[in-house]
Amino acid sequence: MNSEKIIVITAPSGSGKTTLVKRLLGEMPNLQFSISACTRQPRPGEVHGKDYYFYDEDTFRKLIADDAFVEWEMVYTGKYYGTLRTEMNRIWESGNTPLVDIDVMGALVVRDKYPDRCLTIFIEAPSMEELRRRLIARGTETPQTLEERINKATHELTVAPNFDKIIINDDLDRATEELVKTVRSFIEK
Ligand code: 5GP
Repeated sequence: MNSEKIIVITAPSGSGKTTLVKRLLGEMPNLQFSISACTRQPRPGEVHGKDYYFYDEDTFRKLIADDAFVEWEMVYTGKYYGTLRTEMNRIWESGNTPLVDIDVMGALVVRDKYPDRCLTIFIEAPSMEELRRRLIARGTETPQTLEERINKATHELTVAPNFDKIIINDDLDRATEELVKTVRSFIEK
């Protein structure tokens, strides 16, 4: 296996990406989740150093100044997220392939930085109605952040054709199978 490859998975918020990513990681032990840094508050059950490195804004800005990020962005108003170089290197050095789960614009930046070794996958919800329903069911959004996520998703859908593969998350088992098959054939080639 070529340990210098990168799998980039992106999706509008609420498309079921996190569940698919967990299933993919369970199927492929040589893939390792690249833990991003972010400045939003941890949700219940989220752990620093496992789900994200949760930093305050000053620490995040210092990391930007130190060129610690492959890419970083203000994904939502006032909330920064970034892919750490140290994470990618740590995973490559362990002989594994990093799985980077980031927003659409960040995914395009990573692809442009590593054009020869990146597989970019866009996960799409079956419809905007379904996406809205899933976000409400998740119970993590205020009316304002819900609208922000829906508006962002609407824009992100227009960028989907720029990715190597689009997977529609209409049925979790079917979408998982398609995802695993796509990643496996990229890693083994
Ligand atoms: P959430 O707040 O729901 O965990 O994540 C919000 C969005 O930020 C998701 O689309 C997630 O993929 C994205 N995200 C997570 N980490 C990064 C990162 O390092 N860089 C960028 N650009 N986006 C990220």
